[in-house]
Amino acid sequence: MTNEQLKQWLQLFTDKVVENKQYLSDLDTPIGDGDHGANMARGTTEMMKAIEEKNPETVTDTLKLSAMTLISKVGGASGPLYGSAFMGMTKASMKTEDLVEILEAGLADIQKRGKAEIGEKTMVDTWAPTIEGLKNNELTIEKVQSFSEATKDIKASKGRASYLGERSLGHIDPGSMSSAYLFETMIKAGV
Ligand code: ADP
Ligand code: MG
Ligand code: MG
Repeated sequence: MTNEQLKQWLQLFTDKVVENKQYLSDLDTPIGDGDHGANMARGTTEMMKAIEEKNPETVTDTLKLSAMTLISKVGGASGPLYGSAFMGMTKASMKTEDLVEILEAGLADIQKRGKAEIGEKTMVDTWAPTIEGLKNNELTIEKVQSFSEATKDIKASKGRASYLGERSLGHIDPGSMSSAYLFETMIKAGV
């Protein structure tokens, strides 16, 4: 991944989140507090603003600036989690150019911070199978979407949705959807 590709990816991700701000908040309404779209739209918009202003010149610097901005501007549970993901990716990018290894480091830091395993109805349920699909060279935008859709059938055991227990069933997890946008746009940017 070149720095140009990374910036293109983050721009497409931001556009996708902003376009779907209402939908992400609608997903967060029945099983959370209805703010996921607002949180993500604010954080990603600030991230792009910071990238335009500071013009980081390497992949590592762009990932690091993104991590810092997401941590400070997204808020909620997802801010520190996306921030951790991008910080893990930042560190990995100093040692490797391999996209799978970089994403694995991101997922590892999400799990270090949030303690969620696969099957708890969180963003982890998009990240983990996406990385698996990428490893096996069989990742498509449709598959990424299906990983998020599949959280409908999971009972939440982490985050706000876990307060609902059984009643979280039948609803897509909002963070799994914003993560699906992250990986859809990764594919679109040709990263
Ligand atoms: P909040 O719940 O504080 O309002 P958001 O609505 O922005 O924060 O984000 C909620 C999303 O964060 C959930 O849909 C879920 O995907 C993710 N999430 C919450 N807790 C965890 C966790 N412990 N590990 C991984 N992801 C989590
Ligand atoms: Mg919320
Ligand atoms: Mg909130």
